[in-house]
Amino acid sequence: MTKCIFCDNDLTEDTKPEHILLNALGGRKTTKRVDCSACNNEFGSTIDDEVGKQVAILRNMLQLDSGGGRAPPMLRNLQSGSDIINLRNDGTPELVVKPFSVRKLEDGRFELQITAKSIDEAARYIPHIAAQIGCSEEQVLEILKSATGSCVERRPDTVHHALGFGGPLAVRSAAKSALVLWATLVGNEDVKSQPYEQVRNFVVAGDEAFNQARVHLDSRYLPQSDRLQHRFGAFFNLIYVRSNEAGCVVAHFTMYNIISWHIVLAEEGGTPNARLGLISNPLEPAVWSDTIADEFDIDFAWLDSPDYADEFLRARERLEATMRHHVETQRSRELNRITADVFAKHGIVNEHEPVTDPEVQREIIWEISRRFASHALGLPYVEDVPGDEIVARLNAVRGKSDDSA
Ligand SMILES: [Zn+2]
Repeated sequence: MTKCIFCDNDLTEDTKPEHILLNALGGRKTTKRVDCSACNNEFGSTIDDEVGKQVAILRNMLQLDSGGGRAPPMLRNLQSGSDIINLRNDGTPELVVKPFSVRKLEDGRFELQITAKSIDEAARYIPHIAAQIGCSEEQVLEILKSATGSCVERRPDTVHHALGFGGPLAVRSAAKSALVLWATLVGNEDVKSQPYEQVRNFVVAGDEAFNQARVHLDSRYLPQSDRLQHRFGAFFNLIYVRSNEAGCVVAHFTMYNIISWHIVLAEEGGTPNARLGLISNPLEPAVWSDTIADEFDIDFAWLDSPDYADEFLRARERLEATMRHHVETQRSRELNRITADVFAKHGIVNEHEPVTDPEVQREIIWEISRRFASHALGLPYVEDVPGDEIVARLNAVRGKSDDSA
């Protein structure tokens, strides 16, 4: 019976499938024939989990799905200027604020402040406000009629993300992925043999000496990187393992086409002259390949000569390309949202339907231009809303929810 390459457990029908490239990295290919469920679970909650955490920010910024097609993780409680914001799964920022505050003034009156992201949200607060003041919901609405309100839209301040990839745990996860991939080609017996002993230990228990001697950062673009990007998107993840004549087995692990690692899986005595690659496209997880090494013949000599000499220059160049993509997609998403919002406000559901009323046309153009300009300049867009209009809008949404109840 086939045994796990990391321990001696037997592999069975019930063995849990291992994602060769992590699901978080857009990996889809799994295997039940290399490592056992116990090892899989152990890695999942330690070294793989570390990689998942490291890439969460980038996935949210660039909107990169998991292999299973799940949206990127939400990022919570980020400092943005003097505000705290969350970045939702779809990358939309939301302000983290106290929804309302009630302050009793000396003359017995109340000062009530409500901050809500939408009128629906504000409507949900009404019963709570009533309870806190000790009056009916109708009375709260009555009070609000004489209130002043404003609708403020503004771009969040810069959020400083510390992007850090690597470290001993993450590199062990990369080595594990490469070794599991290699085992699917050369077999478990080979990978369980002496030449791979050190890398197996490194994956299972960590080994600083191994990390120093046999793991190297590599900031070079892959040969034919343009072709790879064309096929698998700007942010592909790739494992490429290749051995030479002497059975020296090296792995090249490229993460999001931003940074790579060179890992020596066996110094000599492994299966000679073989190669295998696996690539994912987190922008489009259905597009991936495990035959990439047949199509892209990357030299052993190239793979085995990592270069991190111009680290600063190259890493910066690659990160800048990433950020440009982020800014562009983010901007067009925001502008689409503003347009849709303005159209909806004028009761137009389908933006492609011609607006015939010249008065409405004028208002729409006016509002969209003002909001676009505010957005471009990073200024808040403020629209004053009189109290009776707030109450009218609140009543409209309250009526809706009563109907559905
Ligand atoms: Zn095992």
